[in-house]
Amino acid sequence: MSYVPAREMEQVRIGKGYVLKEHEKHYPENYPCTINSATYFLKVDGNKLEGKANLSMECRKGQMILNGRHFTVKEFSVNGRATYYYDGNTFRFDVDSGPNSLTMSYSASLMGSVQRLEEMSEVSTTGETENPIYWIPSLAEPTMKTKTELYVQVKKPLMAVSNGELREVRDLGDWVEYHWVMDFPHSFYLTSLAVGEFSTFKEQVDGVVLEYYLPKGFEDYLWNLESTRRAMKFFSSYTGVAYPFKRYAQVVLFGMNGGMEYITSTHLTWRVLHDRRADAEYSADSLIAHELAHQWFGDLVTTKDWPNIWLNEGFATYFQALFTEADKGREEFLYDMYTKLKTYLEETEEYTRPIVSRYYKWPDELFDRHTYQKGALVLHALRNALGDEIFREGIRTYLEQHAGKSVDTEDFRKSMERVSGQDLSQFFDLYVYSAGHPELTVSIQYNETPVVVLEQGEPSYPLELELKIVSNSTAEIRKVKMTSARVEIPLPSLRYVCVDPEFKVFAVVNDNQPEEMLVSETEDPSIMCRIRSAKGLSKYTDEKAIKALGRLLDDSFWGVAYEAAVSLGKIKTQEALNELSSHRLSNPKARRGIAKALSEFKYDERAAELAISMLRTEENYYVKAELIRSLGKIGIQKYQEEVKRYYAEDSHLDVVRSAVLEALAQFGSQENYDFILEKAFKGESFPVRESATRWLGKFGDRAVDPLSVLVRDRLPRVRSSAVEALVETSSLKALPILQSVIRNEDEDGRIRALALRKTYSLGKIQAK
Ligand SMILES: [Zn+2]
Repeated sequence: MSYVPAREMEQVRIGKGYVLKEHEKHYPENYPCTINSATYFLKVDGNKLEGKANLSMECRKGQMILNGRHFTVKEFSVNGRATYYYDGNTFRFDVDSGPNSLTMSYSASLMGSVQRLEEMSEVSTTGETENPIYWIPSLAEPTMKTKTELYVQVKKPLMAVSNGELREVRDLGDWVEYHWVMDFPHSFYLTSLAVGEFSTFKEQVDGVVLEYYLPKGFEDYLWNLESTRRAMKFFSSYTGVAYPFKRYAQVVLFGMNGGMEYITSTHLTWRVLHDRRADAEYSADSLIAHELAHQWFGDLVTTKDWPNIWLNEGFATYFQALFTEADKGREEFLYDMYTKLKTYLEETEEYTRPIVSRYYKWPDELFDRHTYQKGALVLHALRNALGDEIFREGIRTYLEQHAGKSVDTEDFRKSMERVSGQDLSQFFDLYVYSAGHPELTVSIQYNETPVVVLEQGEPSYPLELELKIVSNSTAEIRKVKMTSARVEIPLPSLRYVCVDPEFKVFAVVNDNQPEEMLVSETEDPSIMCRIRSAKGLSKYTDEKAIKALGRLLDDSFWGVAYEAAVSLGKIKTQEALNELSSHRLSNPKARRGIAKALSEFKYDERAAELAISMLRTEENYYVKAELIRSLGKIGIQKYQEEVKRYYAEDSHLDVVRSAVLEALAQFGSQENYDFILEKAFKGESFPVRESATRWLGKFGDRAVDPLSVLVRDRLPRVRSSAVEALVETSSLKALPILQSVIRNEDEDGRIRALALRKTYSLGKIQAK
C-alpha cells in the first residue's frame, strides 16, 4: 500500500522548519562500564585549575571513553596501564572485565562552562549541557549516574560550594580545602562548583537544611529567596515524595544568567536580587520554584538523553506553575499557563517540532519553548484528562519507580498508564512524539435558532471539551467530544458561549462569535472567557467593542486588563486611544499593558503625549521602561531629549537604561549610534552592555565591525545579543562572522545554535 493518511504526512510528524541540513540524529551512548564513584581533588588558582581524578568502574572488556576538554594530562593510568588516546575532547582507553581503577592528573584553564569573573572574585560552573567537561574528567551525556566526591582548595577568603554534604573544611594556611560528598547517584552534568566570597544563611524545613549563599555585600536581599520554604513544602506534598536529600542550597552568582539545578546545590543568577520597588512587578519565585522542582524532575530522576529533556524542563516548568496555583491562586495559575501558550506560539512562527526530537547539531538546541512551555502545556492537558488525583498518583509512582535512575518518555507513559488504567499511546503520539497542536475556531450560525460551530484545522485532534453555554436565563457547562473536525451544537437560545472556560485542553481557541456575544462574554466570571473575548474584540473598531474593552481595563484580575489594553492597541483608532488614556490603573502589571499598547500608535502625537505624561508620574521601573520603549516605537523625534534624560535613572537590572537605548536606536541618528556604541563596550552594568549590543543592529552596515568584536566578548549574553544584532543589520558582511561563531568549538552551544539558525534567516532577508 502506498497510501499515506493525511495525519502521517511528514510535516505533521516532524514539524516545519526545525530540522536543518546540519542536524544529525542522536541516540543514547552504550558504555562498557558503570562508573561507581568519582573523586576529584581540585585546586583553583586564578585562571588555572589543577586536578586529580580517581574513578572506580565496573566494566565488560572493551574501550571506554571519558570527556575532558583542553586538559593537559600529567599522569594517566587504568589498572596500572598508561595507554590512552586523547583528542582534546575525549579520552579513549581499554578496560578489563570486572573492577577497573582510573587515575588522572591534569590541568585546565577556566573557560567554556566554568567561568571566572575577576571583579567579583568568583568562579562558577554555569550549566547544561557541557557543564562538567571543562573541569573534571566525566561524561557529557546524562545517561550514566555515579556518586561524586570533591576536595577543593581555594585561596582565603574564598569559599568552595558543591553538592551533597560538607564533610570537612581544612585550614591550609593561606589556603583552605572544602570536602564535599554527594552520596546519591547522579549524572555528571549535575556536579557543580561555585567559588566566591559568600554570606551564608541557614534554616530548616521538615528536616531539610536550606542554605542560601549570597555574594558578600548583598545580605539585605535574603528576603528575595523567601518562597523557597513554601515551594519545598508544596513539592514534597504534591508529588507525595519527600525532598530526597538532606540539604538544599541556592548560590547566587554574577556569572549566571538563569538558574541551574545542580544536585542539592542550585546556582541562581544575581538578577534575582531586587529591591522592594521592583517587587511590585518582578518576582524571583518562578525561577526559585522551577529550579527546586528539578530536584525531583531532573536530579532524582534524570532524562536518559537530551532528546527526552522535556522530562526535566517541561516538568520543572509545569511544577513551577502548580506552585503558583498553590501560592498565588487559581487566576494567577491560569494566566501563567495562558502566557506559556502565547510564548510557545511565538516559536511556532519560526518552527514546529515534536517535543521528543532526535535531530540536532548541539543538544542545547532542544532547550527551547517546545521543551519548556509546550512540555508544561501537555502535562497540564494530561492532568486534566486524568484528573488531579490520578495525575498525582502517577507522578508519585513515576518518581518512586525511577528514583536514582535515568528515564525516557516511555517510562513516564507507562507509570501514568499503570496508575490510570488507560492506554495513553494516542495522547503521547499526538502531543509528545508529533509536532503541532490543535487549532479550534468557535463561530455561530443561525438556523432559526443559534448553532454553535466548533471547527478544527488540519490535522484535527480528538478533543474532549467543556463549553459554557449562557442564555438569558441559564448557564450550563456542556461536555463535547470532538471526534471529527467539525461539530455543530444547535441551541434554543444563546447569549454567548465560552470554550474551555477552565483552560483544560491544550488548544489554540479562536473566538469568532458575533460582536454582541463577545461583549456579553466580557462579563463571564472565568478569566479565560474574559481573555478570549478581549482577543476576539480586537477585530472590531466600533464604539461597542471599544467600550467593552474599556470595562475590561478595570477588571479585577490584572492579566485581563493587560490583554484588554493590548487589544485596544491593535484596534489603533483614536477612540481606542481615548479609552486607554481615560484609565488610571493601580496594578503596575496591568499598567504595563497600557504602556505597551501605546507603541501601536505610530507617529501619533496624542499617544506620545500620553506616554510622556504617564512617564512623569510613574514609579514602577518596568512600566517606565515599557513607556520609554513605546515612545521609541511611536517614533516622534521631538521626544528624544526627554527620553534620553531617563538614562540617569537606576533601576532593577537597569531596565530603564536598557529601554532608553532601545528607544534611541529606534530614533536613529549618528549621535545616538555613537552613544549606544560606547555603552556596548563600556556600559554601566551587564544588562546595559547586552542591550546596547542588541540595538546596534538597527544601524545596519556600520555596526558590523564593532559587532564582530562584541561577538567574542567574555559575557555570554553580550555575545548572543551580538549574534541577534548581526542578523538585524541585514549586512552581507555579517554572514562570515556568524559562521565563525558556529565553528568555535568552545562557544556555548546555545549561542552557536542561535547563530546557525540565524544564518538561515539572514539568508532569507538578503534574498528579498
Ligand atoms: Zn530548568
